[in-house]
Amino acid sequence: MPPVLKPETQDKNSVYGPVDSWRLGRSLGIDLLLQTSICSFNCIYCQLGDIQNKTIERKIYVETDQLERDFKNSDWESADIITLSGSGEPTLALNLGEVIHMIKEYSDKPVMVLTNGTTLKDPAVRADLQEADTVAIKLDAGSEEVFQRMNRPVSGVTLASVIKGAEAFRKEYKGKLCLQCMFMPANLSEAETLAKLANKIQPDEIQLNTPKRPYPKGWFPETRGSHDRTDFPAQKLRVVSEEEAQSLQAIFQKKTNAPLISVYRACETGLN
Ligand code: SF4
Repeated sequence: MPPVLKPETQDKNSVYGPVDSWRLGRSLGIDLLLQTSICSFNCIYCQLGDIQNKTIERKIYVETDQLERDFKNSDWESADIITLSGSGEPTLALNLGEVIHMIKEYSDKPVMVLTNGTTLKDPAVRADLQEADTVAIKLDAGSEEVFQRMNRPVSGVTLASVIKGAEAFRKEYKGKLCLQCMFMPANLSEAETLAKLANKIQPDEIQLNTPKRPYPKGWFPETRGSHDRTDFPAQKLRVVSEEEAQSLQAIFQKKTNAPLISVYRACETGLN
């Protein structure tokens, strides 16, 4: 049995990678949360495992000074893109806008933020995101019932509130807006309704995905960007088959106008 990695034994660097990503090329990760896993969702497939701090409170989790120091000490020059995701929902960090600005001042690399969309109803969050080159919003469900079952949000967050926030953001944001849809057997039947919701948001791109990484039994910093580590206790997840993925792609191609990218096509090239 491999040893269980413990958070307190890990080096808590707020910057990790660059790692190879099927969507992004070489991606350098910035973790604005780091203390533990912190999110307003607790998705059933989360690569961080069961979220430790389920909250929608915005505050400073990692000081900008530390983030700046770790970024400047990192191998950022070899990255294709700088990605803000890390140990949970990055828009919960109150210094989000300040950190994006710091990165843009220091490097010419594009900055991408991955968000679950739960905070986009807040004008301050939408303003913080304006300087990012790309924002990718998670959208896994077309109905409230599947949303609650799959994303398990904190109390008070509904699918309708996420869609409303995303629509408001779309109106204000000039960068590239993507939707990331994670498919498992649990939400396969949502494809049509989800495609309809996607049209309301009018993204520049839709990314279809299925969980390729196992569900770890606990959080530790390596779960942020690890694509190939298996030396920790984890549960394998049920993914969408090649055949199911093809029918998903066909539905999205028919029902939406946005360009589509899919992990299945990327997997043929060997990327995670
Ligand atoms: S939104 Fe992301 S970080 Fe939060 S629980 Fe879902 S997969 Fe994990």
